[in-house]
Amino acid sequence: MRIGIFGGTFDPPHIGHQVLAIETYHQLALNKLLWVLTPSPPHKPNRTITPLEYRVKMVQATVGDEPGFEFSRVEIDRPPPHFAVDTVENLREQFPAGHLVYLLGEDSLRDLPLWREARKFVTMTDTLAVMPRPAASPDLAVLERDLPGLREKLHFIDAPLLQISSTDIRHRAKEGRPYRYLLPPAVYAIIRRYGLYGLRGGD
Ligand code: ATP
Repeated sequence: MRIGIFGGTFDPPHIGHQVLAIETYHQLALNKLLWVLTPSPPHKPNRTITPLEYRVKMVQATVGDEPGFEFSRVEIDRPPPHFAVDTVENLREQFPAGHLVYLLGEDSLRDLPLWREARKFVTMTDTLAVMPRPAASPDLAVLERDLPGLREKLHFIDAPLLQISSTDIRHRAKEGRPYRYLLPPAVYAIIRRYGLYGLRGGD
């Protein structure tokens, strides 16, 4: 059983997430890809984050009925702080013989040494699927020095570079600039319905 773990704040989920998820699913022949919504990301303490109930709706809408994709409550159902290392440990208990693939963008790879118990996280994960991201150029030699054994676990996904971020989408929505086609249509509908990300709309 090959299981992908896609952790994120998903505020909101966007087309970049979808493209990378499906590419990883196919390129690493996964049986299941868990979209692990983080209620309160420890690395974004100073940011106002959209209430969880709306992000749940948006991630569920993104997962939709795509075969193999699943919405996971593994972090929602445990008290904060929500560290990836604990998520991998929980999933390891659930799938003792599973091959666990953690998905992350190049920006997250660059910051990996700052993650809680990063060495344990790398040891417990079988593969780290790295998705290319503009303007992020992790230095593999430095990372390997901080996290010995990391390099052999890395698998670089062959995917288009997508300059899409949740931050940019939030800014666009707030400023009344177009953002509609950067999102799955069902997520756009949820943003409009609940008036998320500011009142001016725009599409
Ligand atoms: P924000 O702009 O709010 O920080 P984000 O767009 O980075 O959000 P997250 O939910 O934090 O979205 O991302 C979850 C994971 O997806 C992270 O590992 C991140 O690096 C990766 N990711 C998100 N967008 C992209 C993208 N366009 N290309 C590559 N990786 C991405």
